[in-house]
Amino acid sequence: MTGESVRDLDKHVWHPFTQAQTAVEPLEIVAGAGVELTDRQGRVYLDLISSWWVTLHGHGRSEIADAISKQARVLEHVIFADVIHAPALQLAERLTALLPGPLSRVFYSDNGSTAVEVALKMARQYWFNQGVPKKSRYIAFEGGYHGDTLGAMSVGRSSGFYAPFEDMLLPVSFVPYPETWAGDLEAEEKERAALAALERLLARNGPETAAIIIEPLVQGAAGMRMSRPAFVDEVVRLAHHHDVLVIFDEVMTGFGRTGTMFACNQTAESPDIICLSKGITGGSLPLAATVSSEAIYGAFLGQSFDRAFAHGHSYTANPLGCAAGLASLDIFGADATLSRIGEIEERLHEGVTALQGHPKVEKGRVTGAIAAFDLVAGDTGYTSAVGPKLKRFFLDNGLLLRPLGNVVYLLPPYCVSDRELDQAFEIIGQAFDRIVL
Ligand code: PMP
Repeated sequence: MTGESVRDLDKHVWHPFTQAQTAVEPLEIVAGAGVELTDRQGRVYLDLISSWWVTLHGHGRSEIADAISKQARVLEHVIFADVIHAPALQLAERLTALLPGPLSRVFYSDNGSTAVEVALKMARQYWFNQGVPKKSRYIAFEGGYHGDTLGAMSVGRSSGFYAPFEDMLLPVSFVPYPETWAGDLEAEEKERAALAALERLLARNGPETAAIIIEPLVQGAAGMRMSRPAFVDEVVRLAHHHDVLVIFDEVMTGFGRTGTMFACNQTAESPDIICLSKGITGGSLPLAATVSSEAIYGAFLGQSFDRAFAHGHSYTANPLGCAAGLASLDIFGADATLSRIGEIEERLHEGVTALQGHPKVEKGRVTGAIAAFDLVAGDTGYTSAVGPKLKRFFLDNGLLLRPLGNVVYLLPPYCVSDRELDQAFEIIGQAFDRIVL
């Protein structure tokens, strides 16, 4: 691509989650190393959103590239029905060893949405196979986002993105999510109110409900809305008390993002099913895993195919993705990544606390390697007019950040340095001073 503008050349691509008519000209990124992305003109951007929350250890990790290359020379892909291979076996073994006890069966797919779709179908068929077909509804939290396929949209429809598809979606009841932040004096009260609403709903709909789905500790796309482990525990207890399965959507929170390997490592209660993707390959290849308890797996066994889970994708358990996943888990050990995440969390706290002094900043919050705060703006939510202005300012100043409307957040790769974080906070502070809200 030389000479012409990217926009002139970009005639055949349809970008995701983008209004092309008003969007900024796409960056033509030609290389990535660590936290840095470089465009065709040689400009460097700090990728502080881990490229849509997938990149864990930085771009261009040679350990992951080598593992993919080595695997590609031996076995790049093979059908996964009636077949097993070492990368899939080993990754399943290592994932289940890191997850709480009950989660022991790994069903592979390709992305976060399919991981969720699989979980929703598994939950419903679990009851169906046991002769309880009326347990066919779901419960989800207001604001939750779980992906863009039909089932995932159904449990995420309160995000407001799916008006054209309303009549195609599954029956789902929504309960309030107790958005809390650092020093929030009403945190406990909000959590109690949400739990009371959930309990009322379960008392009414429990017998018809297959499962409840939650993004534990942090709702991502809703604006990095945080809750505490004790709240998640109570959700699990209430659901189980009413014979409703619990699905943790850890597509975003998994692989260190909340300070522990998985958010469920911070809760006392375990889900029945967990959805993993995004960071599973360190951010290098598409892969997902829906991990269930042995009790759920057992409900699909029998002499006839009717009881089996009739679901699969061409690239299920792709060996390259699994090899990348194993290499990424190795890096967690070699780099002592979880302890570095602890340091990043402290740094993020300092940065957010300093910004809180700004009159336009409120609700500063940090969980693990996620920091967020709201800008006091005329309009709020995903389409807030301030979002595009901020994005432009950040790009002009070398930061790849994508505010969720008036919510600004950082979700950096774990190789980020203190200096890079300081630089980011300085530029964010400048943005608030210069942009008229
Ligand atoms: N669940 C959550 C919590 C997510 O954050 C996302 C993606 N942002 C998804 C599911 C969907 O993942 P994917 O984009 O890979 O389909």
